Amino acid sequence: MPIDATQPYDPDNIFARILRGEIPSRRVYEDDYAIAFHDIAPQAPVHILVVPRGAYVSWDDFSARAPAEEIAGFVRAVGNVAREQRLVEPGYRLLANIGGHGGQEVAHLHVHLFGGAPLGRMIAG
Ligand code: AMP
Repeated sequence: MPIDATQPYDPDNIFARILRGEIPSRRVYEDDYAIAFHDIAPQAPVHILVVPRGAYVSWDDFSARAPAEEIAGFVRAVGNVAREQRLVEPGYRLLANIGGHGGQEVAHLHVHLFGGAPLGRMIAG
């Protein structure tokens, strides 16, 4: 079920638990601002989620409330993951789902990073 992007932050959401190491993930990156791990149900040959360490429900919440240092750190982390995974050439896609129409299901901001094959044009289905 998609979430309401304006809901209060729930510290027991699944990505908060992954951040705290309470449940496992296939982690590929971490720094002071973010972690990244493989999506459990990949929708492309490479499908990685980049998650800020801070407690933000969605891109909306993050862009409104996060300090500039955290925003810069998170954006830099997303770029670092893409470079480390060697996705820049041949190319990749970023996606953040927000709230109901966006189909967001986990109530902690995450950016999807897709690659490893030609991805087609934008939104299908
Ligand atoms: P979204 O619809 O943007 O909220 O995407 C949530 C994503 O989290 C989906 O692609 C799920 O496959 C993924 N996901 C859910 N639980 C886990 C988990 N425990 N480890 C890795 N990825 C997960």
